[in-house]
Amino acid sequence: MHLFTRTEKGELPDFSIDDAGTLKYRGRFCVPAVEDIRRMICSEAHGSSVAYHPGSTKMYRDLRQIAWWYGMKGDIARFVAECHTCKRVKADHGRPGGKLTPLEIPTWKWESISMDFITGLPKSPRGFDSVWVIVDRLTKCAHFVPYKIDYPMRKIAELYLNEVIRLHGVPVSIISDRDSRFTSRFWQSL
Ligand SMILES: [Zn+2]
Repeated sequence: MHLFTRTEKGELPDFSIDDAGTLKYRGRFCVPAVEDIRRMICSEAHGSSVAYHPGSTKMYRDLRQIAWWYGMKGDIARFVAECHTCKRVKADHGRPGGKLTPLEIPTWKWESISMDFITGLPKSPRGFDSVWVIVDRLTKCAHFVPYKIDYPMRKIAELYLNEVIRLHGVPVSIISDRDSRFTSRFWQSL
């Protein structure tokens, strides 16, 4: 409120108030000093369905484009340091190699994924009738890729390259509800 009043008086050239009455710092939303709001924004930027546990530098770079508050960089670093999923990734990676078990807990994000195909849905306006759900087994982050049941394998592979490999690299293992023939045909078409 203090900044708001001073901005209204024109005392702070870096701050402005937009048509909706929102206080902005160099075009970025000023986030009020309310713990819950800042935490919510951090969760959204870190571990939601659109964010894949970025490190604090990347997360700060992303958030900095739209939001601003005093001590933002430090808050983000603390938030990431406290994330249980990120902690687990680090801890598991530092562990000496032990006996392999068939369904070992993956140690890296997008190292091991599972896929499900939901078919027979009512057609969307753009003609999609199926959803391909690709889940990272470690973070449970998911991609939902709409497709058409009559897509050829080549097209499915193309979608996969664009949706998963472009963002996360090549996974080590894939668990699919389809039979293994599908998985091998899928790999061959990549
Ligand atoms: Zn995390």
